This record gives sequence, structure tokens and C-alpha cells, in this order.
Amino acid sequence: MKIIDHLLYHDDDTPYPYRSSPNRSGTFDPKFLIMHYTAGSSAQASINWLINPRAKASAHIVIGRDGSVTQLIPFNVVAWHAGASTWQGYNGLNKYSIGIELDNAGTLVRAGSQWRSWFGSTYSDEEVIEAIHKNETVARGWHLYTAEQLYIALDLASLLVEQYHLQDVLGHDDIAPRAKTDPGPAFPMDTFRARLFGRQENEQDTRNYVTTTMVNIRRGPSAEYALLPQAPLSTGTRLEATGNESGAWKEMNVLDAGGNVQGWVHGRYIKLVS
Ligand SMILES: [Zn+2]
Repeated sequence: MKIIDHLLYHDDDTPYPYRSSPNRSGTFDPKFLIMHYTAGSSAQASINWLINPRAKASAHIVIGRDGSVTQLIPFNVVAWHAGASTWQGYNGLNKYSIGIELDNAGTLVRAGSQWRSWFGSTYSDEEVIEAIHKNETVARGWHLYTAEQLYIALDLASLLVEQYHLQDVLGHDDIAPRAKTDPGPAFPMDTFRARLFGRQENEQDTRNYVTTTMVNIRRGPSAEYALLPQAPLSTGTRLEATGNESGAWKEMNVLDAGGNVQGWVHGRYIKLVS
């Protein structure tokens, strides 16, 4: 697959299905990828809802259980998938992230020898894992994703990370931990993160970045700290993360400074160099 003008195409230049959703805002420069499950009965039902103005919700992409991909909103336009959310000092992640929805029934309850979804469909044991969500304390049933779905999702995520220099892949349950449980324990987030960024959860970020605008560099991780003599850094200054982070702030070696300049910059004004 490939991206042309922020829309998804097959390698032979035929477009993926596009069902335009009105549930969108203006153009933006995405920094993160957020994974979701639909908690719906089918990809088609979820798409029909996410393109309905009454839903007041959307996503950039919906991936069906057969691996089918449908785009609802161009990747450079804000979709309404994150709701009230926070991550590393960013509030309202719609403005900073691309959203992918995976067709999945979500949480399931035991019903005799089977499992039942909130909308009444039943599932056999082979389609379910029992697991404790990382934000919860008691095990529940979770609808498994299909191999086709996860394969396509990883392929698309790799393309998006490369094309838009995304900094991280997160779950809705990372950015809204009290309200949301998707994509949940059935989603292989650690594998995704390792495959996309070559690092594990909690591993230090020592990647290279570049400033996207003129940005201040400070002695510590907040605007309270004094500016370095080199501040402000000009647009396009090359940086290397030291691994130290605090909220949205990262400590950086300034590669373009010639000497040994080290200071803190806000993550909003930098992007990954891939
Ligand atoms: Zn979600």
C-alpha cells in the first residue's frame, strides 16, 4: 500500500474504498497513532455509524475482520476518535493523532458454553481470551482480533509512521484510561511498538529529531527553567534524544550546535527523523 495526497492506495495505484465522514475538523500534522476497537457487530455497521453526522465520532481508517481497509478521512485532517484524552502534556489527542478502528466486539460476558457481546452476538472459546486489562483488576472476556486484521494494521501503521514521522503508537486506553478499554489486552501493543519503533515499552528514547519551528531550549523540563544561550533553536535544527523525559518535554543533544549543547525542548515542536 501507499499514500498519495493523504489517501490510501494499493501498490497498483487503485484506491482503497473511501467513505467520507463529516465528523472531522481542520488539517493538521499528526504525531501519534491511536489504535481502537469498534465494539461493533461488523465493519460495515461501524463505518455506517462513523459517517453519520449524529455519531459525532469518526476515525481515519476502519479495518474489517477479513483485513479489508476503508478510509473515512484523509490522514492530514483531524478525525474525532480520541475524545477527552491526555498524553505527555498533550490534551485532546484528536488534534495530534491518526485513529485506526479495528472491527471487534470488545468485552464479552460468559453465556453458558459461549461468550456474548453487548449487542447479543455469541462467540466460541476460540474467538476469545480471558485477561485482566492493564487498567483493571479483574479478568474478563475479550474478542480476539484476526490474523488478517493485525497483519494489515501493522502494514498500514508502518507506512503511517514512515510517511508522517509519527513518534509513537498508543491505545485509546492509554490516552483515556478511565473511560476507555480499547484496543484492550487482545491487541498485541508491545509487538506493534517493537516492530514500528524497535523499542519496548519503558525503553529509553534515544532517537533523532528535528525542530519543526523556532523553539526554545531550556535548562529543565518546563517553561519555568532558564533558556540556554543557544535559544531559540532555528527551524530544522537536528537533535538527538538523551532518553530523559518529563511529561511532554525531552532532553536533547543539539547535533547542529557543534559543541556539547544539551537542554530540554517541548515535544510539540519537534518531529522524528526516520
Ligand atoms: Zn476508541
